[in-house]
Amino acid sequence: MYGLMSERPLLISSLLEHAARYHGNTEIISSDSDSNITRSNYKKVNTRAKKIAQALLKLGAQKSDTIATMAWSNVRHYELYFGVSGIGSICHTINPRLFPEQLIFIINDAKDKFLFIDIDFIPLIESLISKISIIKKIIVLCDKDQMPKSSIIKNLICYEELLDKENGKFEWPTFDERTASSLCYTSGTTGNPKGVLYGHRSTVIHAFAAAAPDAMNLSAKDVIMPIAPMFHANAWAIPYVTTMVGAKLVLPGRNLDGKSVQGLIESECVTFTAAVPTIWLMLFEYLEQSGKKLETLKSCVVGGSACPRFMMEKFYEKYGVEVLHCWGMTETSPIGTINRPLPKHKGQNFAERLDIAVKQGRPVYGVEIKIADENGITLPNNGKDFGNLWIRGPWICSGYLNIENSETHGEDDWFLTGDVATIDPDGFMQITDRTKDVIKSGGEWISSIEIENFAVGHSSVMEAGVIGVFHPKWDERPLLILVKNENSEVTKEEILEFLKDKIASWWMPDDVVFVDSLPHTATGKIQKLVLREQFKDYKLEVG
Ligand code: AMP
Repeated sequence: MYGLMSERPLLISSLLEHAARYHGNTEIISSDSDSNITRSNYKKVNTRAKKIAQALLKLGAQKSDTIATMAWSNVRHYELYFGVSGIGSICHTINPRLFPEQLIFIINDAKDKFLFIDIDFIPLIESLISKISIIKKIIVLCDKDQMPKSSIIKNLICYEELLDKENGKFEWPTFDERTASSLCYTSGTTGNPKGVLYGHRSTVIHAFAAAAPDAMNLSAKDVIMPIAPMFHANAWAIPYVTTMVGAKLVLPGRNLDGKSVQGLIESECVTFTAAVPTIWLMLFEYLEQSGKKLETLKSCVVGGSACPRFMMEKFYEKYGVEVLHCWGMTETSPIGTINRPLPKHKGQNFAERLDIAVKQGRPVYGVEIKIADENGITLPNNGKDFGNLWIRGPWICSGYLNIENSETHGEDDWFLTGDVATIDPDGFMQITDRTKDVIKSGGEWISSIEIENFAVGHSSVMEAGVIGVFHPKWDERPLLILVKNENSEVTKEEILEFLKDKIASWWMPDDVVFVDSLPHTATGKIQKLVLREQFKDYKLEVG
């Protein structure tokens, strides 16, 4: 219609172009595998991303080609996010922690044409190279004098040499915003990983939503450090959001131990960061040993797994940091819900506030969620009924790459998340389990996550996993499997006593077992499937 708003496409390159123009001198800090820091800024990075674009076009990259990265969270990886997507190619960020056979599968499934890798991953790629078919060139993210020699991979290209041949005088091309921009595979616990394709439009509108005050509340005044790796759901899309608002960006590289994380927060005056609970546990351990603080940090996102209550208490009370509990998935770009208080919560005491804050939060604008029973009948939002969690919205995947008729994609754009949740009358969603992990005792559901969260609140417990094991009367009963903190001693009886006033009596684990470590997936989640396999012959004492 005449006079309607312009249809200028929402493209990922426009985020960086804007940052280069209006926040050109704002810094981008990057820590390498030896914890050496390099400093760049939006202006320089935009030019270098354009050089990548020029080089890729010369190498023969075309629109919709898949171009892979295997790299830590560093500035070269960040440049590739824009250089690759900026010319309409798809930036496939490979998770190096996947098993070798999964890596071979995803590289072949994605038909990766070029691969950019950090030096650290050369041995890994050498071990796979005979089984990956499409890759034409491998480019090593390093300086000329760091270039490794490989007798197995022929014709490795040096990234900096490649860039040096270009002048960066390049206009980002304009194309349909519905073009695919990046690709990430989910690391499911069964079957092959599945490819999730992000688009320019979905990425940009997700960034608008993520930056908003009732979401992450980010602005150019912030110093933002994504800790979730750039190969996992695009570091939770935080590099895009940071670029959009023009904030200082800190990329922490490979070393995510407590000392390194605290060191970067302090030296770069980080105000906002985001990570899974495991990272925060390591950070707390270091803070306690060293007596250091998190003085500049204002808020942090906890997601990827449920944030235990004790973790929130510690962040607020001991370190003065606001916790934003978020839920999302690779398939949801990733933001689904974020926990922020409502006006009616003003005046609540700390304990009441935490009762709500431990939930995974409410949908941000753009996202709709619902819970439904096994037959797809929608369940009430009463905070009590558990159901399968469904989600839809413009940044939620509509299917998986190369998979026709996905079983988890329903009518009207609804996507079945595989999580089980409650939703309260205010819309606060709380995850109780993964569908496959739910414990059914006498037909009633027990939340393994809730028991785990309370168990890790015990000062002697480092990690907890709860699975259902066979019971002749109740069919399944919860078994609590614990890893103790170093040099800590605790008994089964003490643990059960500790849980007593925290969970319903019929949720009490029938037994507690101590192990040295728990199995984890490539993204750091407890592998319940493996745990169930390990304990499949476990016999509960039945009184
Ligand atoms: P991924 O796609 O690897 O990021 O994993 C997504 C899954 O992580 C979700 O389906 C949930 O099972 C889990 N998850 C993410 N955030 C949370 C959270 N805040 N609490 C509990 N589980 C979460």
